[in-house]
Formats: sequence, C-alpha cells, structure tokens
Amino acid sequence: MYKKLFIPGPVNVTEDILQKMATPMIGHRTKEASNLQRSISDKLRKVMYTENEILLSTSSGSGLMEGAVRSCTQKRAAVFSCGNFGNRWYQMAVDNNVPADKFEVEWGEPTTAELVDQVLATGKYDLVAVTHNETSTGVMNPVEEIAQVMKKYPEVIFCIDAISSLGGVKIEVDELGIDICITSSQKCLSLPPGLSLCSISEKALEAARKVKFRGTYFDLLQIYDYIQKKDYQYPSTPSLSHMFALDYQLDKIFEEGLENRFARHREMANYVRKWAKEKFALLAQEQFTSNTVTCVKNTREINVGDLNKALGEKGYMISNGYGKLKEKTFRIAHMAEATLTEIRELLSLIDEILGL
Ligand SMILES: *Cc1c(COP(=O)(O)O)cnc(C)c1O
Repeated sequence: MYKKLFIPGPVNVTEDILQKMATPMIGHRTKEASNLQRSISDKLRKVMYTENEILLSTSSGSGLMEGAVRSCTQKRAAVFSCGNFGNRWYQMAVDNNVPADKFEVEWGEPTTAELVDQVLATGKYDLVAVTHNETSTGVMNPVEEIAQVMKKYPEVIFCIDAISSLGGVKIEVDELGIDICITSSQKCLSLPPGLSLCSISEKALEAARKVKFRGTYFDLLQIYDYIQKKDYQYPSTPSLSHMFALDYQLDKIFEEGLENRFARHREMANYVRKWAKEKFALLAQEQFTSNTVTCVKNTREINVGDLNKALGEKGYMISNGYGKLKEKTFRIAHMAEATLTEIRELLSLIDEILGL
C-alpha cells in the first residue's frame, strides 16, 4: 500500500500527473520540443513573477544550487545558513574551489537582513546565497527584508534557494531583485523528483561571462546561450517526461489560482502551527515559521520512529528531525496538493496514536 506523504519532498503526486509522465517520447530536437519548453518557461515566469529567463535542469535542485555558486562567483561568495541546506550550499562552493565564507546562525533562528548587511558591508563578496525556506528547521527567512538590504549592494548577485517554497509561497522575483531563484519539481510543484528550474537575470549572466571555469553540465551560462540559439532546446537530452507533466501541472496551478494556492498553504500551516503549540512546541520563532513545513519540537520526547510506524499502518507518513535535530524534532509537510482536510485527518490520527 502506498502511503500519503507528509514529508518535505517528495510529495504525493496525483494520478493525472503520473499519467502525463507516461506520455510517449518526442525527439528533443524537434519543433514540438521547442514549443513544450517555451510553454513551460512562459508559465514559470508567472509563478515566479519575473521577466527573466527560465532554465530547466534534468537534476534535482542541488544541481542548480551548485551551478549558481560555481557559474556566477567571480570574487567570493557569502553563503548564509540557518540549517542543513544552507550548509550544503556552502560545501558545494568549497568542493568546486569557489572562494566562499559561511555565515551560520543557530538552527531554528533565521538569517536576518542585519546579518546580510554586516557581511556585505565588508565589500569582500560578489555573490550572496540565501535559503528562503530551510526545510531542516521549518524556518522561512525574511526574504523581503533581505531584499531591501540587497538594494544597497547592486553589484552583488542575489541567489535564493526556494526549493521547498516556490509554488506554495509567493516569491516576487523581480520585485525582490532576485538574480537566481532555484526550485525542484518534487516539493511545492507536486511532480516526481528529477527536474529543477531557476530564473536567471541579465546581471547573473554578465557575471558568469567573466567566470572562466564554470563546469559543464551545470554551467548556467552555457544552458542559457544554448536555449537562446536553439529555440529553447537544451544542450543535452532533458527529461521530457517531467516536462510534459510540468506543462500540464502549471495549467492546473493557474486553474486553482496562485493566490488561492498560497492561501491554502497558509491555512494548512496555521492549522499545524496551532496544533504544534498546543501539543508540543515550535522549533522556530513563530514569525519566521514556514508555510510549507512545520518543525515541531519534541517536548514530550516521543519516539518518532514508533509514531511513524503507527501512522504507516494507517497509510500516512511524516518526517523525523534532520541531522542533529533527528530525535529533538519531527516535521510535518503541508505543501503541494495537500488539503486542510487531509492535514486535519493526519493530526487527529497523531493525537489518537499518542493519546493526546
Ligand atoms: C529539498 C531541498 C534541497 C535539495 O533539493 P534536491 O531537489 O533534493 O536536490 C535544497 N534546499 C532545500 C531548502 C530543500 O528543501
């Protein structure tokens, strides 16, 4: 029996999307492929509130995170971390021999605009990497405030990991001046894993033109140049299956309405947060809690593995804490196509199992 997933990716994928993944193949050097890819980019621009070009990558989101920091850092990258995924982004810079420094706050705390300002005031950095929604701690960083600070440093490239938020939370890329905004297929966009996408600004492309060693597969400039020259076809064979599904899913997202979709995520998050505060506690300060995943402090010292086993017998699955928070927290995702009704069912089942 397949379980209903309330883990922060991969998410449940509806039957119609799975059917779209089974669309017969087309040649990737055909007019049809160009049209499909152009259609996806046009629709994604609306979800991202941007005029910038969209790049697709047949990889999970980590590929584009690596590509961004490697392709666009000339001088030195400032990577801000408030949990596991920020730490990984820093490690990607190190592993690619990209000069970088990490500015990590306590897990559960946000990356603040003040910290970004302090770091950039040194003048040492030409690229900033910020996690929008830190999935390991359930913190959603104050991206609007950070964007305000970034306006003081117009020469610095502003990269955002929006992997676990884009499509569930409004992120106005152009308004916020985000140069590279990255997401993955298997979180709020409700597709299977294996595809990622980002927006990229002229400024980021200009920076990349001055970077000599950008790698190959994740060279964002090479992908950009190729799709301009070849009518939206990609340098290597892309996952056409994902593209059929994504093109279809984006129409479904517009059918629901972006604002309705964001409101649904907000509503589910409020419900889970209220429950968490009553029965346990929140890891993050409430004003920085995520609308797509809640990290619950395990104040009752329950055995999360046992809880998940009991939930599994009823066909549900949640997530334990991440890394050093493994036993101290557990996480409930409320993203993609999940509904408030399902969230209510899940939480009352947890109450029943734990006798709360
Ligand atoms: C899931 C996740 C990642 C990793 O994305 P993949 O698609 O698994 O490579 C990175 N950052 C955040 C915030 C995530 O939630």
